[in-house]
Amino acid sequence: MSAPARLDRAPLIARLREAREWDLAIIGGGATGLGVALDAAVRGFSVLLVESDDFAKGTSSRATKLAHGGVRYLAQGDVALVHEALRERAAILANAPHVAQRLPFVMPGYRWWEPAFYGVGLKAYDALAGARGLGATELLSVVRTRELLPGVQPRGLSGGVKYWDGQFDDARLALLLARTAAARGALVLNRCEVVSLHREHGKVRGFVVRDRETGTDTDVRARCVVNATGVWVDAVRDMDRDPGSSPRPPMVAPSQGVHLVVDRRFMPGSHALLVPKTRDGRVLFAVPWLGKTVLGTTDTPRNDLSREPTPFAEEVEFILREAARVLSTAPTRADVRSIWVGLRPLVKPPSDDGENTKALSREHTVIVGRSGLLTVTGGKWTTYRAMAEDVLGRAMSAGLLETRPGGVTERLPLIGSAPGRPLHEPPGEHLYGSEIGALRALPGADRWLWRDGSGGLSEAMVRFAARHEMAREVEDVLARRSRLLFLDAAEAGRQADAVAAILADELGRPMVVDEFKALAAQYGRLP
Ligand SMILES: Cc1cc2nc3c(=O)[nH]c(=O)nc-3n(C[C@H](O)[C@H](O)[C@H](O)COP(=O)(O)OP(=O)(O)OC[C@H]3O[C@@H](n4cnc5c(N)ncnc54)[C@H](O)[C@@H]3O)c2cc1C
Repeated sequence: MSAPARLDRAPLIARLREAREWDLAIIGGGATGLGVALDAAVRGFSVLLVESDDFAKGTSSRATKLAHGGVRYLAQGDVALVHEALRERAAILANAPHVAQRLPFVMPGYRWWEPAFYGVGLKAYDALAGARGLGATELLSVVRTRELLPGVQPRGLSGGVKYWDGQFDDARLALLLARTAAARGALVLNRCEVVSLHREHGKVRGFVVRDRETGTDTDVRARCVVNATGVWVDAVRDMDRDPGSSPRPPMVAPSQGVHLVVDRRFMPGSHALLVPKTRDGRVLFAVPWLGKTVLGTTDTPRNDLSREPTPFAEEVEFILREAARVLSTAPTRADVRSIWVGLRPLVKPPSDDGENTKALSREHTVIVGRSGLLTVTGGKWTTYRAMAEDVLGRAMSAGLLETRPGGVTERLPLIGSAPGRPLHEPPGEHLYGSEIGALRALPGADRWLWRDGSGGLSEAMVRFAARHEMAREVEDVLARRSRLLFLDAAEAGRQADAVAAILADELGRPMVVDEFKALAAQYGRLP
């Protein structure tokens, strides 16, 4: 087994400064931008991707973490969308089995007709999935429903339906995309922010990127510039405005989604629970993930675009109230270990009044501006690869890139690809796949900073994050290489000093911990 590549920052920044023209320069290191970077690199294009903060710092680390075919889109009759998502679900599970696996779901029924009613829809889902199906849908008796969901509220239970979907570790999948793209020759950099676009004769020819660690600006030239900045795409589109012209109407209507994390004792077992229709018509999930249970989510229109959005009290109340209806032991506010908020980039139809986010498009949109700036947003994590193919297709049809055949990433194992343990178990070395050997060879493999059952966070994991996963700050390690901030915010705060000491040793500079401690306090505090 070859050792993983070191991704030291200094040589990467030196490459950024080289006077050259890239085929593609991508702005934004979430699922969308990283997917484009990998696809383009595999097709042999020269690729630069810059991320202003850390990979997956935006929406891509705050998802429910379901690789799903979108069973609810089936209810809306959108068969094409479901088909695409089922194909993409299969690709994620095949290419990154160490961080993405199938997961059984149970929908408990509390009205006599519910199991049969939802069972019919889910059988149609199985039929659409065909050979890509992950397991057959089953109607469950009351007894069997209680066996599979030991934490379910038994009062009034009329049975259940079991079906299968996928689950993943979103931030770690993003890192694997970044690292695999880098291994294919792409230059991917975090903490590099695009501050303006270069335009020549009305055409975008590159951008100015600021290294946020040193404040140094670099001019980048590219044949095709891709704006993949999620809910922030309108700010980059605004950089593409003719001097003196008025701002364009925004194309994104952000919608906030909150998740609460509680201990597994509220929902033991290995099955996820799905309520297809809460009292106000939303969907509620209780998903076992990395040793805890994730409850969510909400869908609240939001116009400010904070990098760390905060939850509303009504959102917390909604999740706890709905969880209390279906769980025999209801979690209270005091039981919440972490609360995190993500912004969905919903694409606005031109005449939308911005009021009802549920009516907005959950599909992605790719537009090529008159200047040639290519903007992509919307969609979902599950379909990042299909979105990347669309982006490259549009760049080619617009003449920004020469035509090269696609379909190159559908069967492309990501770095470390190897069968893993179920993702509902506590986080541990299994998330490193075939790189476990390299991880264990690092100093501190048996020094656990935090332990949870079979897993936890070791000194070697922090060193691995600095050497191979481009971690630059304490938050990068505790929020996205390890997911401790998302699992238990107070524990993440307690680990900050130990992680800082190891990172300082690796990176040769002192680390700041106060900012991270304040963030951990935010993730641990309910409104
Ligand atoms: C609550 C919630 C639950 C979800 N659950 C699921 C799910 O279970 N399954 C699923 O498939 N999908 C889910 N999604 C959707 C999915 O998470 C998103 O569609 C996806 O993560 C969007 O990725 P992105 O790369 O477009 O945006 P982002 O991840 O936000 O990435 C954009 C990046 O651009 C960077 N950036 C911004 N401006 C600049 C600049 N000037 N220079 C450089 N970089 C810049 C940002 O820092 C950010 O990292 C969920 C979304 C939410 C909000």
